[in-house]
Amino acid sequence: MRGVAVYPGSFDPITKGHTAILHSGLVAFEKIIVAVLNNESKQPLFSVAERMEMIAEAAEEMGVEPGRVEIDSFDGLLVNYARSRGARVILRGLRAVADFEYELQMANMNRHLTPEIETVFIMADDAYFYVASTLVKEVARLGGDVAELVPASVQPRLLAKFDK
Ligand code: ADP
Repeated sequence: MRGVAVYPGSFDPITKGHTAILHSGLVAFEKIIVAVLNNESKQPLFSVAERMEMIAEAAEEMGVEPGRVEIDSFDGLLVNYARSRGARVILRGLRAVADFEYELQMANMNRHLTPEIETVFIMADDAYFYVASTLVKEVARLGGDVAELVPASVQPRLLAKFDK
């Protein structure tokens, strides 16, 4: 267990799929910086501040040791952000088939840009491999129950957004 990894993503909102990756990542890395991508072109449901709050609440719910998870946001090139934070590893989660091609392309591009930074993948937990923020939002919007798919503090925030 050594080193710092950056776990980047939209986290709009964080799901139990994400927390499972974080949990596994903490077996391998001393510290993980969960970095929320500030990308307005994706038209997020939650603001960056709201997404960071939900990640902090999820880390607390997980009982993460103090100092082992930091929550931050970034814009611009991920590799530049990782380098600025002194991280040698980018951590990503991999769901069956759906993520593979995109993640392979991104990892290769990032290696091309910054050969000293490695992308490390952790396989999705089979309980959550079908869980995606987009799908969770859609189900919540339509009144479906997503309580088991997201950390405890996320569901009330989803319900509030959709006026349920
Ligand atoms: P992005 O827009 O960068 O894909 P996401 O928040 O959707 O941001 O995902 C961030 C990371 O978490 C990605 O590596 C993604 O593959 C991974 N991830 C998302 N959902 C799951 C899940 N259910 N299981 C495992 N990994 C996941």
